[in-house]
Amino acid sequence: MNFYGKDYNVYKANLHTHTKNSDGGYTPEEIIRLYGEHSYDVIAFTDHRKTNKISTYDGKGMTLISGIELHPPGPRNTPWHLLALNVPEDFAGEYASASDAITAVLLAGGIVFCAHPHWSGFTSGDVLTLNGISGIEVYNNSCRGIGRAYNDQCWNELIEAGFVSGALAVDDTHASYHLFGGWTMILAEDKSVPSLMASLAMGRYYATQGPEFHRLELKGRTFEADFTEAVEVIILAEHSRGICVTAPDFPNYGDHKTISTFSVNIPEHYQSPIRCRIRDKEGKYAWSAPIYVN
Ligand SMILES: [Zn+2]
Ligand SMILES: [Zn+2]
Repeated sequence: MNFYGKDYNVYKANLHTHTKNSDGGYTPEEIIRLYGEHSYDVIAFTDHRKTNKISTYDGKGMTLISGIELHPPGPRNTPWHLLALNVPEDFAGEYASASDAITAVLLAGGIVFCAHPHWSGFTSGDVLTLNGISGIEVYNNSCRGIGRAYNDQCWNELIEAGFVSGALAVDDTHASYHLFGGWTMILAEDKSVPSLMASLAMGRYYATQGPEFHRLELKGRTFEADFTEAVEVIILAEHSRGICVTAPDFPNYGDHKTISTFSVNIPEHYQSPIRCRIRDKEGKYAWSAPIYVN
């Protein structure tokens, strides 16, 4: 994929996965087989308060990341769900505060995302207290069951508050009905853990339920994108000043029912970072990472 002028390999990742080591329904071996059969390249094992001995697993060609989901106390007597990636296999699972947990992960060389804030009942104001995180989950497939899978609004508010946050899509796999609903495409030189983690730290990835970006580009203030067939393209910009294009109305595309390329001039008064969200015929979304124009 061409990511703002440079070509990268694309690696399909599920970065939030539980096993029988905590409350998941599958063994690590079953997880590796299931995701391998669906052409995933990367799995992060993120059991509640517990790491996994991933160095002893046969990834069958997939890259395995040692992770953990941490639950320090949060607002209104509700625990945080912090997704920590690339932590040592003997990493501790209990922390007195979110700040302690995040500090421990960062010191160990990992990164932290706030998992499913909407499911937890957390506002963007709550999430803004999490100094040191790299972003949130914009989509969590396991939260569909109670109608709280999407975190678009929280993400928008974080960015409007000045926190340029990335956003993942994840399965948060526990059971069969959580499988293959949302994933993160990591754009990296290779699929070694250091290369993947550098890309995650840099915001070089996008979240998706199916649609794929092929190119994202800025030429001055012109934003361009190529992607799989979409019926709607939205440029998310500051406050209410987004730009929405639906395929049948798109002026240069006549009666086509879908579009797969897009170019728009970003007006001068748009100061905050922009993102591109596309929706396909089946109603599935992909979300690009935020980028500043100029
Ligand atoms: Zn969780
Ligand atoms: Zn989880």
